[in-house]
Amino acid sequence: MRLRKQLLTRNDCYQAKRVIRPQGVMVHSTGANNPKVSRYVPGDEILGFNANGNHWDRPGLDKCVHAFIGVFADGGIGTVQTLPWNARGWHAGTGSNGSANNTHISFEICEDSLTDPTYFRKTYQEAVELTAYLCRKYQLNPLADGAVLCHAEGHQRGIASDHHDVLHWWPAFHRSMDDFRADVARTLQGEEGEVDLTEAQVRQLLQEELAKREAERARESAPDWAKELYDQAVAQGITDGSRPMAAATRLEAALMVRAALDRLKP
Ligand SMILES: [Zn+2]
Repeated sequence: MRLRKQLLTRNDCYQAKRVIRPQGVMVHSTGANNPKVSRYVPGDEILGFNANGNHWDRPGLDKCVHAFIGVFADGGIGTVQTLPWNARGWHAGTGSNGSANNTHISFEICEDSLTDPTYFRKTYQEAVELTAYLCRKYQLNPLADGAVLCHAEGHQRGIASDHHDVLHWWPAFHRSMDDFRADVARTLQGEEGEVDLTEAQVRQLLQEELAKREAERARESAPDWAKELYDQAVAQGITDGSRPMAAATRLEAALMVRAALDRLKP
């Protein structure tokens, strides 16, 4: 990661000076074809200069993120930090369940034409490294439920406005947000100097995390009076813990009875 800082101190969001306890990272992309970070920051010799006065270091804008990933003056890819990491950003808008502005650090990837595999690959890698850096800094598990999301996923969860970034871009280059979270986890593992997880191990971790989440959700759907008994039934192998409120087929009922009878054997 190539990280440089140019805080947007004149932006109203910076001026609001509200802080959050970061609980996650939200990935955005700009939605406009201009890969230069100097489109969004005043810039300098390293970042490149904004010649049009349309950067975000000015009052009157209702948006601000913590960083931009894009092209620097020398043509290379880098990250420019634009808000303190624990500032409350204005990036997610509001969904039906609130706003990721209160919980998530945000960055924008400057979009190009969305057809260049090299630009995709380099900005994706920079995003992986930046997210790993932030996860390390704030002790976040990138595989934990809701920790690392893109804007579109935030909307699905009701904590962001209705935007499609980055799912209108990355999947064309065969990268999903699950791939991204796995790559961030792998980067963190590598940093810790432990044995690098293989692709399969990372997938398994992710699968286990998803299964755990699914089981928790399933348990929540059972009525309170039955939860403990249900846990016991799962522990005894009578049922698998999925779909507690769904109807059982004759086959499932037969297998449950059989499993219960097995338990009675000496
Ligand atoms: Zn966005």
